Amino acid sequence: PKKRQLSVAEFVDGITKGDVTILSQAVTLVESVKPEHQSVAQEVIEKCLPYSGNSIRVGISGVPGAGKSTSIDVFGLHVLEKGGKLAVLAIDPSSERSKGSILGDKTRMEQLSVHPKSFIRPSPSAGSLGGVARKTRETIILCEAAGFDKIFVETVGVGQSETAVHSMVDFFLLIQLAGTGDELQGIKRGIMEMADGIVINKADGDNLERAKLAATQFRNALHLFPAPESGWTPKVLTYSGFYNIGVKEVWDMVYEYICFVKENGYFEYRRNEQSKYWMYESINEQLRDSFYHNPKIEAMLQKKEQQVLSGNLTSFIAAKSLLDTYFEDLKM
Ligand code: GDP
Repeated sequence: PKKRQLSVAEFVDGITKGDVTILSQAVTLVESVKPEHQSVAQEVIEKCLPYSGNSIRVGISGVPGAGKSTSIDVFGLHVLEKGGKLAVLAIDPSSERSKGSILGDKTRMEQLSVHPKSFIRPSPSAGSLGGVARKTRETIILCEAAGFDKIFVETVGVGQSETAVHSMVDFFLLIQLAGTGDELQGIKRGIMEMADGIVINKADGDNLERAKLAATQFRNALHLFPAPESGWTPKVLTYSGFYNIGVKEVWDMVYEYICFVKENGYFEYRRNEQSKYWMYESINEQLRDSFYHNPKIEAMLQKKEQQVLSGNLTSFIAAKSLLDTYFEDLKM
């Protein structure tokens, strides 16, 4: 028989008691595109909000192969040594195309996946990056209400997804590798500027000297950037996730940062700014959805696009006539 869906009160009760099965079910509703699921999810989130916020949220980014899963596995075990609970979430903008996300996949984090105090959830896969990111942010709220006091949000180093992760975490950790000497050129400046810490992984064996050299190069490059708003000077460290070398130093840095920004008020400021940002993101997302899913717009869009391409219509006039149609339709 099909399981009965829990009521909002049952969800909230289960989540705040730390029931991971119920938490998982709630996250599934958050990720669902069905309106009836969304309405329950939104109510659950709202009721969980007062219990959320009491955590450290860390974004972890790096290109495929940088060692994210290996590192998150050891990072996770390290932060859990002090007690508490850890949720590992992910934002993978490619997951829609590949139908199923690799990021946050349990099998990639062998030790953490069997740890009783961890909750691992792969990236939501449906929708635009904005939609995926919103779902992850809402999942953070649910996890915190369930008592998870450490949240990792993993993403791939491709640009836009970093911005999304940066907008929901307290500390943004960028995992890099020592390259061939010109590695700095390949890294988008914007991503480096977001980083509160840059860590060079695989600083082991033959690679140790190169990793140290890369660290020096990163430090020099960081000097050229404007000082961050937080007042914190981003650090560059080397470590080895695989051999578990220097992991403590990486997390000492994160904790030092958290103390620093709690002291100077930036911690709260950043979270407030993020809430504001997400309010506007939600508005944008809903407006966009409403517009593009409007039947009249769906019927006209292709034709207008063709007219623009064939030079019969300017982009501006095409947009205006579509928007006029949309607003007229709303009035009806
Ligand atoms: P991801 O794609 O960023 O999640 O990277 P993985 O964690 O899957 O690591 C990619 C490869 O690098 C794997 O073969 C790992 O065993 C290897 N690797 C990860 N961390 C280290 C490290 O600290 N040292 C060395 N030598 N290899 C590592």
